[in-house]
Amino acid sequence: MAEEKIVEVLMVSLPLQGHLNPMLNLGKRLVSKGVHVTLATTEEGRHRMKQNLQNSEVQFEFFSDGLSLDFDRSNNTDAYINSLNVEGSKNLSTLLTSLTKVHNYSCVIVNPFVLFAFDVITDHGIPCAMLWIQASALYSIYYRYYKNIDSFPNLEDPDEKVHLPPFPVFDVRDLPSFMLPSSPRLFRVYMNDLFQAVDKLKWVLGTSFYEIEDEIVKSMDSLKPIYPIGPSVSPFLLGEKKTNEFRADLWDSEDSCIEWLDNKPPSSVIYISFGSITVFSQKQMNNLATALKNSNKSFLWVIRPHAYNNSNASELPLQFLEETKGRGLVVQWSHQDKVLMHPSVACFISHCGWNSTMEAMVTGVPVICYPEWTDQRTNAMLIENVFKNGVNLKCDEDRVASTEEIERCIREVMEGPSALKIKKRAIEIKKSAKKSLQEGGTSNQNLDKFVNEFIFANTV
Ligand code: UDP
Repeated sequence: MAEEKIVEVLMVSLPLQGHLNPMLNLGKRLVSKGVHVTLATTEEGRHRMKQNLQNSEVQFEFFSDGLSLDFDRSNNTDAYINSLNVEGSKNLSTLLTSLTKVHNYSCVIVNPFVLFAFDVITDHGIPCAMLWIQASALYSIYYRYYKNIDSFPNLEDPDEKVHLPPFPVFDVRDLPSFMLPSSPRLFRVYMNDLFQAVDKLKWVLGTSFYEIEDEIVKSMDSLKPIYPIGPSVSPFLLGEKKTNEFRADLWDSEDSCIEWLDNKPPSSVIYISFGSITVFSQKQMNNLATALKNSNKSFLWVIRPHAYNNSNASELPLQFLEETKGRGLVVQWSHQDKVLMHPSVACFISHCGWNSTMEAMVTGVPVICYPEWTDQRTNAMLIENVFKNGVNLKCDEDRVASTEEIERCIREVMEGPSALKIKKRAIEIKKSAKKSLQEGGTSNQNLDKFVNEFIFANTV
C-alpha cells in the first residue's frame, strides 16, 4: 500500500503577542486541514510563553535572535532589528538546515515583521508565503505608497486629506504611523524594504475577511493580490469548546475576572485593554480613570505588569480602586476571548490592534477606539467611518483624550439610539465574519485555494 504523504509547513514569527496569535490561529486551521505545522520563533518566546508547549497541536522550534534573554528589546528597537538581521538570520538558517534534514516543507509562511527571514527561506529553496497580520486596508495603503502607485499628500501635515478610493477621504494623521515623518526613520526604511520584497513572495494571505473590505481587496487584484482568510481568531472564539486550547500567552491570565463578570448584568460592563505593547502616559491614565469613575458603569480594565516595557509606566490615581470598588476590576492580563464572549460585556475601549479589532468583530462587541501608533489609527478610522461598529475618541496632539470626550463616547456606545445603531451593525459584522469562515464562505474558500494550489502543489 502506498504510504500517505505528510504535508508540512513551517511558520516564522517574532514572539510578540499580536504576531504569535494570528500565526498560531492560521496554524491550527491548517492542522485541521491535514497539514503538519511547525512555528519557529526566537528563544525569547520559548522563555515567555506561559502554556506548556507540549499541549499545542502546532509544533514549536526556536532560534536565537542573538541577544541575551534579559536584553530590553522594546526600548532598543535599533539594536534588536540589527541583531535579527545579522545573528537572527544566521541562526534561522542553521535551524532550517537541521529541520530540512528530517522535514519536507512545502512552504514557509512568514509575517511582515520577519523580513530578515525572507532571503534565508528563499536561499534554502523553499517557497515563501506571507500572512499579512493587519487589515487589508493597510496592505493596500503601504503598497500604493511604497510602490508609487498613487499620489499622496504632504505627509508632514497631519491635517492634509488623503484621497485614495475606495477609502473615504481621511486625514494624514490616520495613515499608518510607520509611514509618517514623525515616526523613527528605522520604521519607514523597514516598511519600504518590506514592500520592495513583497513582490518576490509567492502568495499573500490576509487575516481580515473579504466582506468587510471587499473593494479594498478587489483593488489589489491587479497589483499584488491579497487573499483574506480571516477573521483570524482562535477556534475558541468561533465556538469550538475545547477545554484546554493552547494559547501563546506571554502573561498569565487572571481568570477570576470571568467569575466577576458572571455576577454582572447582561451588557453592563466596559472592557478596557490596550494590547501587549502600548504604554499609557500618566495623563491618559488619569483621564480614563476619571471618566470611568464618573460614568458609574462597571468596568474590567487590563493594565499589564510593569515588568515589561516599563520605561513610561504610569500609575492609577490614588483612591481610584477604592472609589470604584464593587463596580471596577483591574487585572494584569485577561483571557480576552473569554471576556469578549461574555454576555455581561457591553463595549470595548481598545487601542485597536488588529487582533483585538477582529476579536471584537467576531463577538459583536462595539468598540471605543483609543489608538496610538502603527496601524491602530487607520483601524480606528475604519471602525468609525467604514465598518461603523464603534466610535473614535478625539484626542489632542499628545494622543490624550479628555475626560469629557471619553464620557461622551461611553454614552454614545452604551445609551440611546446611537448605541442601538452601533450594536446592530456590530451584530451584522459578527454574522458576516462567521459566515466567511464556514464551508463555502469566502475566507474558507481562500484558505482551501491556498492549501490545494500552493501547499499541496509544492509537496514533493
Ligand atoms: N490579549 C489577551 N489578554 C489581554 C490583552 C490582550 O489575551 O489582557 C490578546 C488579544 O486577545 C489579542 C492580542 O493579545 O489577540 C493583542 O493583539 P493586538 O493586535 O490587539 O494588539 P498588540 O498587542 O499587537 O498591540
